[in-house]
Amino acid sequence: MEKCDTTMGNVINIFLKDLPTLKDFVTCTNHKCKKTTVTSIPIPYITVNVKNDNLDELENMVNLRINNETTLCGHVDDLKSPCAGYKTIRTDVSKLHIFIELLYWNGK
Ligand SMILES: [Zn+2]
Repeated sequence: MEKCDTTMGNVINIFLKDLPTLKDFVTCTNHKCKKTTVTSIPIPYITVNVKNDNLDELENMVNLRINNETTLCGHVDDLKSPCAGYKTIRTDVSKLHIFIELLYWNGK
């Protein structure tokens, strides 16, 4: 992917960095795992890849991003073996705004 410094994302990062669209909270079932977040991870905006100008799937794609997700953690602390716990990412959605960046992806 090419890097572009004038994306909507950069503008939002600069002007709305204290008002993220989402806040992610990561917890791991392994209590010794350092993947668990103490404070939330601010997500300034949601990025959705679109293949054409059809936005029928937009709501689904945003819901997929917002829904809780539990996966094998696999976090590696220092030189120890990967964490065998399950991590869950819970997402709080801003009540003020939801910024969605649409990236047109032409498959190249
Ligand atoms: Zn873990």
